[in-house]
Amino acid sequence: MNAELLSVGTELLLGEILNTNAQYLSTELAKLGISVYYQTTVGDNPTRLTEAVRIALDRSDMVILTGGLGPTADDLTKETVAEYFGLKLVRDERSEQRINDYFARIQAKTVPSNYKQADMPEGCIILDNNNGTAPGGIIEKDGKIAVFLPGPPFEMKAMYEESVYPFLRARCDGQLYSREIQTFGIGESRLEDMLMPIMKNQTDPTIAPYAKESGVMLRLTTMAHTKEEADEKFNPVEEKIKELAGDIIFGYGEEQLQDAVYKLLKEKNLKIATAESCTGGMLGEFLTSVPGISDYYEMGAVTYSNDVKEKLLGVSHDTLVKYGAVSEFTAKEMAKGILENSGADIGIGITGIAGPGGGTQEKPVGLVYVGLADSKGNVIHKELHLAGSRERIRRITVKHALNTARLHIKENY
Ligand code: AMP
Ligand code: MG
Repeated sequence: MNAELLSVGTELLLGEILNTNAQYLSTELAKLGISVYYQTTVGDNPTRLTEAVRIALDRSDMVILTGGLGPTADDLTKETVAEYFGLKLVRDERSEQRINDYFARIQAKTVPSNYKQADMPEGCIILDNNNGTAPGGIIEKDGKIAVFLPGPPFEMKAMYEESVYPFLRARCDGQLYSREIQTFGIGESRLEDMLMPIMKNQTDPTIAPYAKESGVMLRLTTMAHTKEEADEKFNPVEEKIKELAGDIIFGYGEEQLQDAVYKLLKEKNLKIATAESCTGGMLGEFLTSVPGISDYYEMGAVTYSNDVKEKLLGVSHDTLVKYGAVSEFTAKEMAKGILENSGADIGIGITGIAGPGGGTQEKPVGLVYVGLADSKGNVIHKELHLAGSRERIRRITVKHALNTARLHIKENY
């Protein structure tokens, strides 16, 4: 089934309000596998609304209209749709009663125009409005479906969930399921390249990469009747992706890098400690956002000045003079220092130039070093060359630091 959304309201055309109804309905229809081919917005104008309804129902199986169900003269949605199908408007007594009840509840008086909302196209399915006065409706005629819903997003959503979703669900063969695989470390095009052997001929489930700031998310999507049926389709494809992409996969669904690190720390029973310069505690913030991390996060120090790097972490004066605060050696000594100070199993040190100032020819803005020292005596570092604003450089640094820890623990413990 395909559909068109028709948003009614001059205020939308004037840009006074954002068309959140269309966004919501598009998302919901996609979940049911109903293709939305068009979204149209039209003002409260009878001629243009009539034209828009005609065009929509000419080219789509279903039109969902929102707005224009109010009691005033400029609210024309119902009238227009009824006319399109050649249906009369008739007073629906139940809706009339509900309007009376509603006004009694809010202790207000009705005026005659309120009852206009109880006039419904003959034979339509009436959708109760539990949050307002305008009922919605579904007309199914001549192989076409028209659904009309109130404009206020709160009323529209509730009505969709309570009445429209069950109606559509019964008409759809299954629904859309998806599984999200989170990766970090390589770009979208390289990942696509890596997965080409399976992406080339893959149609069900589909595989789509989405570039995000923290790596690339792969979304598998399929139509199925149950979650189990969808999982059966996803599992073999995921196995193939794992074979091809391996270590760059860090999680599923909403999982973040810090969640992946937490899981590993817990699984291997390891403790971590952090010493940060340019990220100013953001790594600690990310780690402590994970519930349960307190058993595995020993300490975090923000060591901004050279002096404190020396005093607190034992970074050698020579290193700072010879290589500078932003150097692989400083990052590694910071990691070692915090490891020894805290008694943790994994120590992370971060030092870099977040900008916008402070860059030089040989040490430009975006140059960052992540050091890692572990209880087995390994000391490694990662050199990053990042671009963007100060905030972005700091955020991406933290993600790289988390990923460095993730990979190191996986390989060494
Ligand atoms: P109406 O049913 O046309 O009288 O609309 C009532 C109110 O619902 C409007 O004043 C808007 O605030 C809101 N509204 C109508 N259409 C939309 C839409 N497409 N997206 C978000 N809000 C809307
Ligand atoms: Mg309106």
